[in-house]
Amino acid sequence: MKLRLATPGPTEVPQRLLLAGAREIVHHRSAEMEALIDEINAGLPPLFGTGSPVYTIASSGTGAMEAAVANCFSPGEEVLIVSNGYFGERFQAISRAYGLTAHVVESPWGTSISPREVADAHARHPGIRGVLVVYSETSTGALNDVRAIGEIFRDTDAIVVVDAISGLLVHPVEMDAWGLDVVLGASHKGFMLPPGLAFIALSDKAWTAVERSAGPNYYWSFQRLRQFYPMSSSSPAVSLLLGLHESLKMLGEEGLDAFRERHAGLGRAAERALVALGFSTFIQPPHRRSNVITAALAPEGIDTGTLLKTLSVKYGVTVTGGQAHLKGKLLRIGHVGAADALDLCAVFGALEMALLDCGHRFTPGTGTGEIVRTVHEGEN
Ligand SMILES: *Cc1c(COP(=O)(O)O)cnc(C)c1O
Repeated sequence: MKLRLATPGPTEVPQRLLLAGAREIVHHRSAEMEALIDEINAGLPPLFGTGSPVYTIASSGTGAMEAAVANCFSPGEEVLIVSNGYFGERFQAISRAYGLTAHVVESPWGTSISPREVADAHARHPGIRGVLVVYSETSTGALNDVRAIGEIFRDTDAIVVVDAISGLLVHPVEMDAWGLDVVLGASHKGFMLPPGLAFIALSDKAWTAVERSAGPNYYWSFQRLRQFYPMSSSSPAVSLLLGLHESLKMLGEEGLDAFRERHAGLGRAAERALVALGFSTFIQPPHRRSNVITAALAPEGIDTGTLLKTLSVKYGVTVTGGQAHLKGKLLRIGHVGAADALDLCAVFGALEMALLDCGHRFTPGTGTGEIVRTVHEGEN
């Protein structure tokens, strides 16, 4: 059975990138690898909208979140955490693990955070050293206005730490212009690579926080990253770097604007198709939706747990459901990275068959028809 991934990370990896990483290991201190790493180091900052270096570490995305907390703050310091989903909660858990005092601005799952509430929370807690926020909250598909949040803290001592792990590339990130201080990314979302690399960009203001932080840290130390840059202090994930070099080329060939338009088109088509099949859109205006995934609540009587199992066991298609209280209710279709309209047709073809298996009644072709119509309209 052919396996298809329609998850918000890991994503399907194009053959071109698999092959780039499949060659023999080249030593990272070789002239060839040094040149390749230089090209990677030159290629990453524009994608973050920064003139500062972007550091690449061997880690999943969560490792970069933890490294940011460990390096920028000290135990006992106050931070503000903006939370409207699972990854916001992860920032809270990491901050507690590092002994920080976390004040939380909470907004229900499926909504975007109101920047005004963030400003109000800052007024209540003027002693905070930083604010931690997720750009594209992958557990719900909500997009947060990190630009407005950057504006609030620009002229303060507090730094703005942004988990842009899924939002990067798919949505604009202008780190320098928006006043963002720490921006995090990872290989297995928009970069179309396997999991294993994470990216960290730091502003001058962030470096002041890093130098003030008491630590302790070693492998995750940002100061060590800076000290050994452009190389790294320990063995980098060479195979993934080979893939990353090729991924940057692919992104350059498509162009960021076209990349974003493709994702917006996929999001639009997936949403219309889900609604046509009786699902209801999870992110309602004025809340902003991310184009990384499309999330929708299942029709009455359909348990998304059973649906997901049928999709993967019978049809080889992996999509994700809801986390925490949304388990069984929410469906999240990932279309980030290399996904195209025909991938979406396959996913919806399988989804329709699985829905029929689950006893849902509708005219077959309702969802896929909507994909075809939306994509065709968009191209003509
Ligand atoms: C994928 C993702 C992460 C990182 O998850 P890992 O499984 O550790 O790679 C963090 N934040 C967001 C918003 C994500 O989408």
